[in-house]
Amino acid sequence: MKTPENKKEKKKQLASKGDANDVMENLISLCKRRGFIFQGSDIYGGLAGTWDYGPLGVALKNNVKDIWWKRFVTDREDMYGMDAAILMNQGVWKASGHVGGFSDPLVECQKCKRRFRADQLEPENREKQVCPECGGKLGAERQFNMMFKTHVGAAEDEGSVSYLRPETAQGMFVNFKNVLDTFHPKLPFGMAQIGKAFRNEIAPRDFLFRAREFEQMEIEYFVDPKDWKKSFEHFIGEIRGFAEDVGLPSAKVHEHEIAPADLAHYSRRTIDFEFDWPFGRKELYGLAYRTDFDLKAHSSASGVDLSYYDEEAKTRFVPHVIEPSLGVDRTVLAILADAYREDELGGEKRVFLKLAPSVAPVKIAVFPLLKNKDALTAKAREIYKVLCAEFARGSSGVEYDESGSIGKRYRRQDEIGTPFCVTVDFDTIEKPHNPVTVRDRDTGAQESIPLKDLVSLLAQKLGK
Ligand code: ATP
Repeated sequence: MKTPENKKEKKKQLASKGDANDVMENLISLCKRRGFIFQGSDIYGGLAGTWDYGPLGVALKNNVKDIWWKRFVTDREDMYGMDAAILMNQGVWKASGHVGGFSDPLVECQKCKRRFRADQLEPENREKQVCPECGGKLGAERQFNMMFKTHVGAAEDEGSVSYLRPETAQGMFVNFKNVLDTFHPKLPFGMAQIGKAFRNEIAPRDFLFRAREFEQMEIEYFVDPKDWKKSFEHFIGEIRGFAEDVGLPSAKVHEHEIAPADLAHYSRRTIDFEFDWPFGRKELYGLAYRTDFDLKAHSSASGVDLSYYDEEAKTRFVPHVIEPSLGVDRTVLAILADAYREDELGGEKRVFLKLAPSVAPVKIAVFPLLKNKDALTAKAREIYKVLCAEFARGSSGVEYDESGSIGKRYRRQDEIGTPFCVTVDFDTIEKPHNPVTVRDRDTGAQESIPLKDLVSLLAQKLGK
């Protein structure tokens, strides 16, 4: 029965769903308008679950990957970087359990033919087998394997079957012995890689959140089984540290301990790191204790010994594994969704991205106040060159812009999340100390700085 109370609650829920849709729509439109992210194959009507990163998107994404690589690989002595092939021998996926079990429950509406993931339906729809879109009857649930199948070479027979990898992890397990034999690391040590993963998701949705092609940043950290708890705790802190590095507020990141009954068969402990997305609290990253499941499975299927000899204890055993698994695209989406702001500045509405300087695709923009004054553009270009040498990496980092009015240029930089703009005017050329104006994205406040102090001030503000 619908009481006034639960009617009100329903209305509130619908309203907040509406707000979330608005936020996502506005964000998707900003990403397209400003060259961050486009729908994949857009001019052909798109391809569901694929997204193309434009110039600013790829700069943001590369910043995320660089920060991860620095924290987890370069800054550590116990981590070995990898870049394994996407296509692997089908034996890998049989041994890992993906051929037999990497599936989601699928239901199809008999009326409108739409397909849904059964475990993502409202409980009422699932129980009563009612289509949430058209109200038609849903068919029986069946398991749908999410791996993209393909054939390697000219023959299309069973022997040539391969899959686009649904995770990067297996590329590290099958190279465990290679790293052991070439670098002779002592436990604990890890292998780390960033790369594409492909999943034929039944219902791709929520922009980058659930895509069919995405990137992962994964670590397989090999430990003596008696030490697994210590390493697991260590990576809880490291994942939180990484989220902070890319500017995600820690209050929006939650640890969800998976109940023992719900753990995957190979895992003895898993934590999902969830994020407060505009569309609700859902998984951002995963951290799993996978025991010796993977190395043992590959050892027995390949016939290759994947054990480790502990020289001090004079014992041989198969190491256990702690796996922090982080999605690149979910990180990018979390950053963008959290940074999206609408406010009023100088009596005008504006949209801006409050990006942390560490991930902002453009960190500093340099403008001449007017574009048709040679002395101003020459000075601005000179300063731009100096700032490029100090702060730019590749083609991103520092931008020069002289198009349109100064107000329009500020607006565009606000929308792409540039933390600081430097404006060169006649005072810069004519006055002692050559003052330039530095404008702060978040407050719009402008301060006049002697040119000689500009680099050190920006370095300090950017946390360099
Ligand atoms: P979900 O339950 O949301 O489907 P999952 O538990 O299957 O995720 P994992 O297999 O643990 O995800 O993958 C590790 C990480 O890879 C996830 O935490 C997420 O960041 C990312 N990821 C997984 N699937 C997708 C996807 N379809 N699109 C974008 N990122 C993904």
